[in-house]
Amino acid sequence: MSLVPPDYSGISFDSVAQAFLPVTGRGTPRPDSVMEYHARSQTRMSVPPIAWLIAVLVLGWHSPASAQTMRVLNSQHYQIKTDLDSQLAEDLARRMDLMYDEYTRRLVDFAPPTDASKPFQVDLYAKRDDYMKLTSSRFPNTGGVFMPARNLLAAFLETQGRDGLRRTLQHEAFHQFAFTAISPKIPVWLNEGLAQFFEEGVVIDNIVTVGQVPPRRIRQLDADMKAHRLVPFDKFLAMTDQEWETTLADKNRASAQYNQGWAMVHFLISATDLDGEPKYRSRFIAMLKAIHNGTDPQLAWQQQFSTNIKGFQDRFLEWASALQPTELALYIEHQDVLADMLVELKSRGVVFSDVGQFKSRLENSGYRLQYEKGQVAWTSERDVKVYFSDSAGRAFTPEQLQFEQHGEVLPELVCRPGGRVQLRTRFHQEDGGIRHEMIVELVK
Ligand SMILES: [Zn+2]
Repeated sequence: MSLVPPDYSGISFDSVAQAFLPVTGRGTPRPDSVMEYHARSQTRMSVPPIAWLIAVLVLGWHSPASAQTMRVLNSQHYQIKTDLDSQLAEDLARRMDLMYDEYTRRLVDFAPPTDASKPFQVDLYAKRDDYMKLTSSRFPNTGGVFMPARNLLAAFLETQGRDGLRRTLQHEAFHQFAFTAISPKIPVWLNEGLAQFFEEGVVIDNIVTVGQVPPRRIRQLDADMKAHRLVPFDKFLAMTDQEWETTLADKNRASAQYNQGWAMVHFLISATDLDGEPKYRSRFIAMLKAIHNGTDPQLAWQQQFSTNIKGFQDRFLEWASALQPTELALYIEHQDVLADMLVELKSRGVVFSDVGQFKSRLENSGYRLQYEKGQVAWTSERDVKVYFSDSAGRAFTPEQLQFEQHGEVLPELVCRPGGRVQLRTRFHQEDGGIRHEMIVELVK
């Protein structure tokens, strides 16, 4: 087992350099059971002291899309059939290749089978209806799915937006990769946990930085711990695909279950000992290797982490209670909040010529946004200065946070919080409204 050093050490945000293992493996394709529940969050904006006004997401479906011509895009590792606009499709293909390289780099001892004549198959649709047709409406609450029996990954843009689609692809493409490279028999909690671990990876130009902890993950985890929604570890580790899927009927339990999988995998990879060294990572890797080599997953767990599952659960809960968001993930959320504000205000005919004017308006009006995802609701900060400051609380200068006037709907919002990375929010007229996407890039 070798640890791959990160090649993005010049970037100021924290990153996790871990190696996992890919593996060459074949197995009986299981049914299309690796399905996703991606809850769609709803956003509201508050205009105190007036009543809440529902904003932003209109979830009405369009009438069935006529079968668009699907173009074929051959990337390094994927054959993508898509009716998305070509610029977006090419960007997604590029990112998928980057993520694929990241999966193999992190799982370095296990080269996946490379058969150039059989690239991974991906169908990307603009409209949800076309996705529903492809999947025979079997996964209505999903934004994407990997179907092992067909070696096919499918996803759509409508309603989940570009950022949502990217995350879905990073997630589903991991399932597709893992099925071939690690084992078709990875236990569901581990498969979903790892898929979400990679889902949270942020692509910065041509670099992937994994190990991100977004604030929304912590909000979910805190709410689930408080409401005792976490599944006891002995049960969680033993969950079958069928048991996992049964839970999906209950959206709150589904959100908790997915997030618990993410948190456990993040814990196993990222938790450190008193010397700041990874505490469980090598054992986690050894467990994956054993599963790859055919060891029963629960036995593989016991070999690495003992039979004292309750003790392990206690360590996890201590860690989870103290978990903090990573800096990059925090900046991304802050900028998304500002972008939601800009969209909301634009819909009321309010636009700004510079960020200073925007900030004053927010300070004077007391605007706040209310977000809801299942039972987890949160409201943007009362003191909007948080969104106009770096993580140390220093107000951004006009050069650090500014509009750049070449957006198609609204000017792009660009933040250079420090270091080599900048965040760029781009706005699009899409899905019958204004949507925004986050581009993270190196400062040029
Ligand atoms: Zn999944």
